[in-house]
Amino acid sequence: MTHIIIIGGGLTGLFASIVAADRGARVTTIFKGHGGLSLSHGCIDVLDRSSPSRSLARLPDHHPYKLVGKVNLKDSVSDFRDLMLHAGYPFAGKLSKSMSILTALGSIKRTSFAPSGIARGDLNSGGPITLGQFSGFRDFYPSMIQKRASKNGVDIAKVIDLPLLEPPDRRDAYPTDYALLFEDSEWREEIIRMWRPLLPGVKRLGLPAVLGVLNHCEIHEELEDLLGIEIFEIPTLPPSVPGLRIERILLRQAQALGAKLIEGAGVIGRIDGRSRGKRVAGVVLHSTGRPIQLDADAVLLATGGILNGGLVAQQDHRIRESVFDLPVLHPTNRSDWVGLSLFHRQAYASTGIFVNSRMQPLGLDKKPMFKNLFAAGGLLAGSDRSLEGSRQGIDLATAYCAVNEALR
Ligand SMILES: Cc1cc2nc3c(=O)[nH]c(=O)nc-3n(C[C@H](O)[C@H](O)[C@H](O)COP(=O)(O)OP(=O)(O)OC[C@H]3O[C@@H](n4cnc5c(N)ncnc54)[C@H](O)[C@@H]3O)c2cc1C
Repeated sequence: MTHIIIIGGGLTGLFASIVAADRGARVTTIFKGHGGLSLSHGCIDVLDRSSPSRSLARLPDHHPYKLVGKVNLKDSVSDFRDLMLHAGYPFAGKLSKSMSILTALGSIKRTSFAPSGIARGDLNSGGPITLGQFSGFRDFYPSMIQKRASKNGVDIAKVIDLPLLEPPDRRDAYPTDYALLFEDSEWREEIIRMWRPLLPGVKRLGLPAVLGVLNHCEIHEELEDLLGIEIFEIPTLPPSVPGLRIERILLRQAQALGAKLIEGAGVIGRIDGRSRGKRVAGVVLHSTGRPIQLDADAVLLATGGILNGGLVAQQDHRIRESVFDLPVLHPTNRSDWVGLSLFHRQAYASTGIFVNSRMQPLGLDKKPMFKNLFAAGGLLAGSDRSLEGSRQGIDLATAYCAVNEALR
């Protein structure tokens, strides 16, 4: 049985762990902290184009989608959707046509696949929209969404105040606080009783994405049935409840398939001397107490980019890959790492590890550095994932491809 060590607890690492365990591998997944799912909107962005599948062909040859090919993208998304469906959290969408959803800032965002509760807010279909305002809710201002959406050509019919029972009042309340309140059936019963008289004439209601975290679909359906309206969720600013729903499902499924999860430990890579440096031997795990040596047949780096520890910017202006110190190509002048404004191309964002079509990291001579080392997700070079709206599609497709290659 192949033993694969996967480093990273984000979408890439957890999805890869499930794919590998499902293929019969012995999987050890190690991460020093949570990945970025709670910072994402909880949808699967493939490419910010009206038809991502048609636009893939125009990407440059070194782009991760070009390296893995369309089949890996399709198969990975299909596996991800099956996984979510079986966990009771179905996704809707197509690779051939993006949907348009509202964001908490009132902008219109294109995405390829969204949980059904968010997909119900697709602006390409459906009737007039009313937005619900929860008093005291942080970082979600429907009147601002209405104003900005109207500038973007989307008409929001009205905004209504929806009272909440006992919002947590000893500190600022976060989306996660509300999501847990929605899990309580007696609390919901009372909310429904208070909201019903406020909703005459409302057909389609947009609410912040906090309708439960453990039993979201049941809660969503119950609210729709008892209020007699269509309800959709709008992703909030972090912490993102839709992102946390995905994280929870992936963690549970990885464990159910037998993956061993080691949380809270950083690792550094070990190179196999007996193979004259052609293979990696495993990792050294730095946990409380003492370093622990773990052997593996293959190692997959799913450590994210510069934002989450996979790449580290040093005092000497060098960007270092944190596990095997793989070569990272980047502008030498630090002021060139960022664009003119937040909305310009950011050089640091496309900095990463170059890989071949088997997801093996390449050396400066453009040859694979180690036969049994693979990399996927936010760590990869070749795309500005935030600007091109491709984060999660790249995470899934490259994780899927890397695992298949590692277990070949
Ligand atoms: C600061 C920040 C902002 C973000 N903003 C957005 C956003 O606006 N919209 C959006 O859609 N998504 C956002 N994301 C999420 C982003 O989509 C994902 O992080 C990205 O897709 C990469 O996913 P990943 O699984 O490859 O890596 P990540 O999700 O970054 O996970 C990397 C994992 O590797 C672990 N790790 C790294 N180095 C080591 C090491 N040496 N040893 C052990 N473990 C290690 C980390 O602890 C973590 O678990 C953001 C993430 C971050 C961190």
